[in-house]
Formats: sequence, C-alpha cells, structure tokens
Amino acid sequence: MSKERNDKIYEGMFVDATEGILVSNHKGQIILCNPSAQRMFGYTHDEFLALNIDQLMPMRFQSHHVHHREGYFANPMPRSMGKGRDLYANHKNGEEFPVEISLSHVKNGEETLVVAFIIDIAERKKKDNQLKKANEMLKKASFQLSKLNQELEQKVQSRTLELAEMIKKLTESKKEVDLALEKEKELNDLKSRFISTASHEFRTPLATILSSVSLAGKYADKQELEKIFKHLDRVKDSVSNLTDILNDFLSLDKLEEGIIQPHPEPTHVYDLIVDLLDTMKGITKSGQVFNYQDETNNEKVFIDVRIFRNLLINLVSNAVKYSEENKTITLKTEFKGQKLFILVQDEGIGIPYEDQSNIFERFYRANNIGNIQGTGLGLNIVKKYIEILNGDITFESEPGVGTRFLIEIPV
Ligand code: ADP
Repeated sequence: MSKERNDKIYEGMFVDATEGILVSNHKGQIILCNPSAQRMFGYTHDEFLALNIDQLMPMRFQSHHVHHREGYFANPMPRSMGKGRDLYANHKNGEEFPVEISLSHVKNGEETLVVAFIIDIAERKKKDNQLKKANEMLKKASFQLSKLNQELEQKVQSRTLELAEMIKKLTESKKEVDLALEKEKELNDLKSRFISTASHEFRTPLATILSSVSLAGKYADKQELEKIFKHLDRVKDSVSNLTDILNDFLSLDKLEEGIIQPHPEPTHVYDLIVDLLDTMKGITKSGQVFNYQDETNNEKVFIDVRIFRNLLINLVSNAVKYSEENKTITLKTEFKGQKLFILVQDEGIGIPYEDQSNIFERFYRANNIGNIQGTGLGLNIVKKYIEILNGDITFESEPGVGTRFLIEIPV
C-alpha cells in the first residue's frame, strides 16, 4: 500500500473515531484533537490547541495530573488511565463528565507525544447508577419481603398455637360436659331405682319388726313381759336401723363424694354381732342357722357402729338370701395386728366365675339369682363403707358350693 493511501486511512480513523483523541507534547500542550474530542469537550480545534491537557481535568485533580503526566513521559507505554478509580473531565461549560481514558505514545522525531483516547461514559454511568439503584431497591424489597414472610410465619405459628390451645380447651370442656352428663344419667338411674332399692334394704329390718311384733303378741298371751320388752327393743333397733339405711340412701351421692365420715366409738364387737344375728334370725329360711365363732374375747374396739352394722346386715342378709333352707351361715371375728377380721361364709348358690369381677358394681347382679329379689346395690354400698373405714373386702366363691366374704378393718 502506498504511503499516501496509508495516511488517508489513518486520517479517516482519526477523524471518524467515536472516541475523542487528543495528542499532547511533554509540556501537556495539545497539538492534535479529533472531532469526537471537540464534541465531547465543547472546544473548537483552535481553542483546543491553546489549551494544556491538564486544564481538561477538574480543578481538584489538576496538580496530581501534572505529576502523573510527568511520570508517564519518564516511562511511556500503552495503558489505561486512573485504574481503579473514577475519572472525570471538564467540559468547556464547566460541567464535569465521567470518562475512560487509555494512553499510548508516539515518537515524532526526537519528541515523544502522548495520545489519549477518551470515551464519555456519562450514559453508561447513568445506566450503571440506575442499575445500582434498581438493585438496591430490589434488595430492600426482598429484605422487606423476607421480613414480611418472617412476620407471617410468626403469625401462623402463634395462630396455630392459639388454635391448638382452643382445641385443647374445647376437648377439655367436652370432657367436662360428658362427665356432667354421665353424672346426671347416674343420678337419674339412682333415683329411678331408689324405690326398688329401698324395698331391698328395708326388707331385713321390716322382717325383724314383723317377726318381733308377732312374737311379742304370742308372749303377751303368756304374760311374759321380759320377752315382750326384748322384742320391743328389737323393733326399736330395727326402726332406727331403717332410719339409718334411709339416711344412707338419701346420701348415696354424698357417700360417693366422700362426705360421710366415720364416727368411731368404743364397741364390743362380739356383743354387737350376737345381737345383730339375734335380730336377723327373723329373716332366716327354715333350718338355716348362724354359727358364730369369736376370737376377739369381746374386746372393745373403736368402730363406727352404724357403718359396721350396715356392712354386716348386707353380707349376712345376702348369705341368707342366696342359701337354701337348712344351710349354715358362719361368721368369724378375730384381731390380727391392728386389724379386725370378719368372715361371713355361706353354703349357698355361689357366684358364677364370669360375674365375680363385677359384683361390687352398682346394680350388678349375677346370672344365677333366678327370682331371688334384690337390686344389686348392697355390695356397692358395702364397698364404699369399707373404703370410708380404710378397710378391705375380698371374697371367694364357688358356684353350687358357697361364698366367703372377708372384711378387714383397721381398729
Ligand atoms: P342384691 O343382693 O340386691 O342383688 P348385692 O349388691 O348385695 O345386690 O349383690 C350383688 C350380686 O352379687 C347379687 O345379685 C348376687 O348375684 C351376688 N351375691 C352377693 N352375695 C352373694 C352370696 N352370698 N352368694 C351368692 N351370690 C351373691
């Protein structure tokens, strides 16, 4: 290619380049500028030639620039300017604008000239800033979002806890309602069965009254006053016993709530049982006998007489009721340690094995009772009385052979 042609290409490149190109000498005087540089800085070609390159810098960088420029001349090589920091240039109208500058040098004979390629990066900076702002906004938004999310999670968590608490409370109140309903049902049951129960529990004392009254009648004929008084006393006892039982029934729910308290008084167990059996002879079937073996030596013990009598009346009347004629009903009393043991044994129909675990339940009756009357309350009351006395009751029974109830009461 001819030199002329080359020069034309170089000139074209210089004139049409989109970068501003400024060529300066070692003093910083501008000796060449292309049209892009003129557009960028607002100076005409001639104005540029009257300027020093340092003057294109903002005031605050000018002294530094002089220093840098001298350094560059000492060791000129192609490099970008202001690496790692933002560069600014001064427009003719005094406004600053951001630039990117790369430097190279050319030799013109002995003289070294510096060529500065300048790009106006104001637009790019603006976009960068917008991008930065958008990023910041995005960051802020995502921070707020995650905060919101956290708050939401916390709300959900506390709501879940509240709900769980509510469900717990509801379940509890349902339980309470169920319990109350059950209690009410039991009470209704109790009331509706009260009449038949009363008749069962009243039978023993009523029978005693009946037999004593008829016996007293017989003795009246024979003028045997002593025996008449004895039977009148029994009638009195039975009536008071009836009152006691009635009171117990009326307070069956009190019994359940533990309101009934024992009132122990010094008592001769032997005398008490002999008297009781004497009274209960009135309800025995033909040929039935009581066999009482006492090993307490008629010692006095502190015991609640009313509760003790009721216990025994229940057990002995069951022994009588569930035994046939001519059978023996055995009672034994003894002290062992600080406890009084009472055994009530019969030779009756016994309790079927499948019923044995239930007979202390209220209204429960075994399946072998036939048409023997009863309500299934006696043993339940017995059990509760035993609990009040801190005692224990156990039994053994063989169907067709007989039943033994053993009570132990701390005295
Ligand atoms: P009731 O005698 O009124 O039925 P209890 O509560 O006294 O009620 O007794 C519950 C059930 O236990 C009786 O129905 C009966 O089946 C059985 N039972 C109680 N005592 C005896 C006994 N001595 N012999 C046989 N069965 C008995």
